[in-house]
Amino acid sequence: MSFIEFQRKFATEKACQQHLFELRWPEGYQCPRCGHTHASFHSTRHLYQCKSCKYQASLTAGTIFHKTRTPLRKWFWMIFLMGRQKSGISMLSLKRMLEIKGYRTVWIMGHKIRKAMAERDAYYKLAGIVEMGDTYFGAPKSAKRGSGAAGKAKVVVAVETHKDKPGFATMQKVEHLSGHEISQALTDRLDDGVVSRSDGWRAYAVLKTGNYTHQPVIVGTGENAVKVLPWVHTVIANVKGNIRGVCHGVGPKHLSRYLSEFCYRFNRRFCESQMFDRILTACVKCTTITYAELKA
Ligand SMILES: [Zn+2]
Repeated sequence: MSFIEFQRKFATEKACQQHLFELRWPEGYQCPRCGHTHASFHSTRHLYQCKSCKYQASLTAGTIFHKTRTPLRKWFWMIFLMGRQKSGISMLSLKRMLEIKGYRTVWIMGHKIRKAMAERDAYYKLAGIVEMGDTYFGAPKSAKRGSGAAGKAKVVVAVETHKDKPGFATMQKVEHLSGHEISQALTDRLDDGVVSRSDGWRAYAVLKTGNYTHQPVIVGTGENAVKVLPWVHTVIANVKGNIRGVCHGVGPKHLSRYLSEFCYRFNRRFCESQMFDRILTACVKCTTITYAELKA
């Protein structure tokens, strides 16, 4: 969808509400409590009241848009733009482009959308041959692997490889680069029978248990590492470039959600045309996060 088409399609609040309605109730309205399909609509309060059990439901209840004071039109644009820009888009640009008053408002909106992306992406499992690697965010170059670089975020990266092309990718923040934590962070995301390839770091040996096979590869110098595990290095370089360029650095507390946003887009890089609908569906179906939870 072009910018012009998007603008035309979602020109009014009503058009956005209609679209959201069709996404939530594709078969027509259904009461969330009793399943009854007839309801009356209170236009002033924007509530649907079930004709059977009288339960009142709002269009946005149970979505990330619940109780928002920002018009849906701005949310829709934000989702469109976040999905559209391959390298991501800064919250400050969105604030200006969409005329959202406070930075805090746009910052919370961004994190709610990222959380929805993360929940959807968690359904993707990596299969076949998977390259593994790890990196630090915001660490000095001399940071020790394993336990070093206190306070810096350690991230495990896994990328499915198909001959000379990457498939799905996932990145998970860990406290320590230990076998136990690597296994906890990744096993939900790895399909049975995965063959993992990584350097000989001892913690990765955990990936030869159960249904997995592990192939340690000789990495040697930095240049060779890029040759033997090319996709892990490409993905790490890209996400770091994104975070530097777009977000101007991210603290360890919120890093996971930025990584999820990156992986979400990366994993759907061949379905750009469906990006808006997919993210919007995720926003409708995810459990949301509050400002208090974000600050905790
Ligand atoms: Zn009902």
